[in-house]
Amino acid sequence: MTKPLQDSTALVVGVGGLGGPACLQLGTAGVGRILLVDDGAVELADLTRQPLLGEADVGQRKAAAAARRLAALFPRLRVEGLDQRLDASSAPALLASTDVVADCSGHFATMFLLNDTAVGAGKALVHGAAVGLTAHVLTVIPGSAGCLRCLFEGPPPLGAVLGPARIGLFGPLAGFAGALVGREAVRLLSGEAPAHAGLLLEYEARSARTRTVPVRRRPGCAGCAAVAAPPRPMDLPGPGAPG
Ligand SMILES: [Zn+2]
Repeated sequence: MTKPLQDSTALVVGVGGLGGPACLQLGTAGVGRILLVDDGAVELADLTRQPLLGEADVGQRKAAAAARRLAALFPRLRVEGLDQRLDASSAPALLASTDVVADCSGHFATMFLLNDTAVGAGKALVHGAAVGLTAHVLTVIPGSAGCLRCLFEGPPPLGAVLGPARIGLFGPLAGFAGALVGREAVRLLSGEAPAHAGLLLEYEARSARTRTVPVRRRPGCAGCAAVAAPPRPMDLPGPGAPG
């Protein structure tokens, strides 16, 4: 049975251009508790894409600054800003006390760590990313549809793929992807049908093209190996499906 939203906890990893808008969706919907995880400090460049931060926050720890702003906006929200980078030792405990995970990290190693930890713990995960002019959103429901490793077996070799830090990030696109991540997390917490479970949304801003890619459970996926149930026939890749 679904908990009331005010009794639910969302873990938001990454308080950048996606994490801020995601938190606004969660706070506006009335989610009771948000855990924010980020080990960065606020830089001037963040302000072009971060609705929770202002010039007075430059130089402050990002998680704490965003938590202060959220607490001011939503007085009934219990929000904790954790100044840390998620790693294999801290992830299980953080996920244990949450009902949904929003991956707004923009960091390949963290994406796969969150995927594996969430699938192993049976927690729903909404993954969002925006690099250059392309945004992605994928929801992982453990034991149901495919996970991030069903789509990409693992993170790319270091330096093989350029991330937001090297390519740049279109602020409005990050806001769009972050808001979708937050709204999807609210759907999951509310017991509504998720929009992006097993369906990778890709939006390319230059051409305004959108496409969706089915992500089914892939036999032998190292991420899904933590789920007891084997893939059902409907989870297996069909003709033309990726992976
Ligand atoms: Zn998988």
